[in-house]
Amino acid sequence: MVEAMQIPVERVKESKLSQVDFNNLGFGKYFSDHMLEADWVNGEWKNVRIRPYEPLVYSPALSVLHYAQTIFEGQKAHKDENGNVHIFRPYENWKRMNRSAERMAMPQIPEEIFIEGMKQLIRLDKDFIPSGYDESLYIRPFMFATEETLGVKESSSYKFLIITGPVGAYFSAPARIYVEEKFTRAAPGGTGFAKTGGNYAASLLSSAEARKQGYDQVLWMDALEHKYVQEVGAMNIMFVIGDAIVTPDLSDGTILNGITRMSLLHLFREKGYKVEERKVSIDELVEAYKAGTLKEVFGCGTAATISHVRELKYKDLVMEFDVAQMTISAAMKKELLDYKENKLGDKYGWLVKV
Ligand SMILES: *Cc1c(COP(=O)(O)O)cnc(C)c1O
Repeated sequence: MVEAMQIPVERVKESKLSQVDFNNLGFGKYFSDHMLEADWVNGEWKNVRIRPYEPLVYSPALSVLHYAQTIFEGQKAHKDENGNVHIFRPYENWKRMNRSAERMAMPQIPEEIFIEGMKQLIRLDKDFIPSGYDESLYIRPFMFATEETLGVKESSSYKFLIITGPVGAYFSAPARIYVEEKFTRAAPGGTGFAKTGGNYAASLLSSAEARKQGYDQVLWMDALEHKYVQEVGAMNIMFVIGDAIVTPDLSDGTILNGITRMSLLHLFREKGYKVEERKVSIDELVEAYKAGTLKEVFGCGTAATISHVRELKYKDLVMEFDVAQMTISAAMKKELLDYKENKLGDKYGWLVKV
C-alpha cells in the first residue's frame, strides 16, 4: 500500500457555507470553499495543494485562451443515510481524463493527485454536500494549457484544478429534440471521444438555434453520411426498440464514453435485458416509430442520470412519445440513483468512500 500523500492545505478565512441556499441549489450556481491545484512544469507535476477557491490571474497570451487546449471531467459525490460520502466510479473519470489528455497532447494526471486529491478536497468541504434525495456534490476536475505564447503548439506548462459545488435534485422536463442535419459534432479521427472544451464550443450555435425553435437539444448525426445517430449535447442516447436496449457503439471514436451509459448498460445486462451496442440509423428509428416498436428514448449523463425525450423531430416527421409509458428507463433511473446514494449495497464496487 502506498501511503496517501498528504496535501498541504491553506484554509479560507471565512466560509461561504452560510451563503448557500440549500432549498434552492440548482446546478452549477454554488462553489465550495476550496479548490485543489497542481502545476505541470519542466515535465513534472508540482505544487499540489488545496487552497481557497478564488480567481486565477493570467496573461492575455495564455495559450488555452487562443487554441483551446483544455479538458475536463464531471462527476458526483453523494451523502448516504448514515452521513457517509461516496464518489461514484471516480477511477473511470480518472481514466477518461487521461484518454482525453492523450488526445489533446497534454500530460497524464497521476492517481494520487486525481483520486487522493479529490478525496481530501471533499473531506475538507464536506459541509457543502447536501443530503436530500438526488442532491449531491458536483465535482469538476479540469486541466488547461498555461504557456504564455501565441505559437501554435502543445503547451510546455499546464494547470490542473478540481472545484466542487452542491447541486440540487435534477428535475429535467421531458426533452424535445430534433435531428441536426446541418452541423456535425464529431468525425472519425477527431476529438469526439475526448471531454475537451472545443467540442462544446463548436456545438453552441446549434443548441442556440434549437432553443430559438423551441427545442431543448439536438441529436447529432455522423459526419460522413448524416445517417447514424451519435449523442445529444452532454448526454449519450439510448432507445428501447421492441424488447432490446439499443445505443450507438463507441467504435469510431466520435461518441463520448459516458460513465452513466456504461453503468446503465451493465445494470440492463444484469437484469437480463437484451442490450445492443451498434450503429443506429435514423431510418431504423423512423421505421420502428411507425411500427410502434420504438417505445422509449432517453439521454443519459451524470447531471440528470436519465432524461426522457418526449419529442424527436426529423425532417417533417415529429415523433411523439408518452413519457409515462417509459417504465423501463424510469425504473432504471431510480435504481442507478439509489445505487449512488448507497441504498443497494455496493454490489459492483462502484462507490469510493471519501
Ligand atoms: C460528459 C458527457 C456525456 C456523459 O458522460 P457521463 O460520464 O455519463 O457524465 C455524454 N456526452 C458528452 C458529449 C459528454 O460531454
